[in-house]
Amino acid sequence: MKKGVKAIKRVVCLFLAAMVLGVSSYAGNAVKKYGVHDKSRPHPPVINPARRFGQPPSDAIVLFGGEEPNLSAWASERGGGEAKWKIIDDYMEVPKKAGGIRTKQEFDNCQLHIEWRTPRGLDPKITDQKRSNSGVFLMDRYEVQILDSYTDDNYDTNRTYADGQAGAIYGQNPPMVNACRKAGRWQSYDISFLRPLFDEDGKCIRKARITVIHNGVVVHNNLEIEGTTSHKRKARYGRPHEKGHIRLQDHGNPMCFRNIWIRELPEQPYLIKD
Ligand code: MG
Repeated sequence: MKKGVKAIKRVVCLFLAAMVLGVSSYAGNAVKKYGVHDKSRPHPPVINPARRFGQPPSDAIVLFGGEEPNLSAWASERGGGEAKWKIIDDYMEVPKKAGGIRTKQEFDNCQLHIEWRTPRGLDPKITDQKRSNSGVFLMDRYEVQILDSYTDDNYDTNRTYADGQAGAIYGQNPPMVNACRKAGRWQSYDISFLRPLFDEDGKCIRKARITVIHNGVVVHNNLEIEGTTSHKRKARYGRPHEKGHIRLQDHGNPMCFRNIWIRELPEQPYLIKD
């Protein structure tokens, strides 16, 4: 009997070890152990942070901004042709029927900063998902909603479903709080994103995770994403994917963006101390 229990324990241990090694090796990371205050433990790379909050640090890839903002990092989401959004001063605007745009480069784990502005003075009768709808997609699939969701005692033109308001992981989770500014004011998202992992059979073995800071306020804290963004359907993970574009949605509503930068992040390091 004891032998049987031992054998079962051994099988369980081997299975767990295989799972851990499988996940970490799939992610291209070796498990490395360090003791407390281990002098051989490597220091992280040195970077220069920006002088002002919201500006890109030295290791960021600037997707839109700087001295001469341009669309060289972007392509049309329709077939990858030229991005046809209009540049005005330091921001870009979605012209009518221009279609969404996406980065030429693909990313996985990342930190993304993006600033957006909905138009001031919209007709209060324009409500729900038609009121300044856009969105930023991670890996081409996972949308952080953009909408005019500003609300106070005198101003509540936007009534929509909670998982479709600004800051929502669209169709999945509303933000923890509504941190929207009034229409016409610049707003920011600071996002950190961990990609999903799939096994060899294409099954999702680790869901994506996301933290979203809206105007300096945490609205999602290491939230599990349930799957690819869908409309009126429960999200699920589709075909395995390792990287994807950052995509900005043209929902047919006027919208402006500026100061967009991204930092590629390593897979979780699995640096486990002894
Ligand atoms: Mg949207």
